[in-house]
Amino acid sequence: MKTILNGAEALYTLFYPKLCYACYDELIGNEEQICLRCWQKVIPTQFHTYAMNDVARKLFGRFYFNRAAAGFYFHKVSGMQRMLHELKYRGNRDIGIELGKRLAKNCMSNHWLDHIDCLIPVPLSDKKIRKRGYNQSEVLAEGIQAIIPIGINKHSLVRTTDTESQTKKNIEQRRINMQQAFELKEETSLRNKHVLLVDDVLTTGATIEACARELLRVKGIEISILTLAYAIEY
Ligand SMILES: [Zn+2]
Repeated sequence: MKTILNGAEALYTLFYPKLCYACYDELIGNEEQICLRCWQKVIPTQFHTYAMNDVARKLFGRFYFNRAAAGFYFHKVSGMQRMLHELKYRGNRDIGIELGKRLAKNCMSNHWLDHIDCLIPVPLSDKKIRKRGYNQSEVLAEGIQAIIPIGINKHSLVRTTDTESQTKKNIEQRRINMQQAFELKEETSLRNKHVLLVDDVLTTGATIEACARELLRVKGIEISILTLAYAIEY
């Protein structure tokens, strides 16, 4: 029976080969979702293994948080740039789920995700969601949830303005605009909870800071931060 099934499976994959989510090449052997060639170009940060990592240091002193980390490095040769491009600009939702899963597995090794009550994906404007079809941070959170069952809160924090379209403003004006881009819509479900803010890439940390400052209005809230990637600034 097993031989017959294997034969049927082999025939199926002959006509419908499984493709790598990142490069669309055919997957071979034990490869799942992302081929080994693509994944070898992704460099883990190991930030979840020490408290004062680069992400925590970047955010330290700007607002109060419990812990902060990013799973992988984001730079031109890392492979992560290409994967995030697939997720953000090519409608490749599947790669976001897979990356979220790999991020969760990466952080579970030292119980980094323990004692988190809910995930809060950084909200996207309605305009962006219409254009992209989904919020990429929400997709990453769904991937994390597939590995470790934590609820996703999509309604308490909302994005009111699309700050990326304000490129002509100077840095200070942009920072102020960013601070006003998010709004706490509901707080009772977040009271005395430890929430994990989830985003795709951390660069300056301005977006995360704006979200956190708004969330810190909730009584007894504890905030931790996890991004898929960390952009190295040269
Ligand atoms: Zn590939």
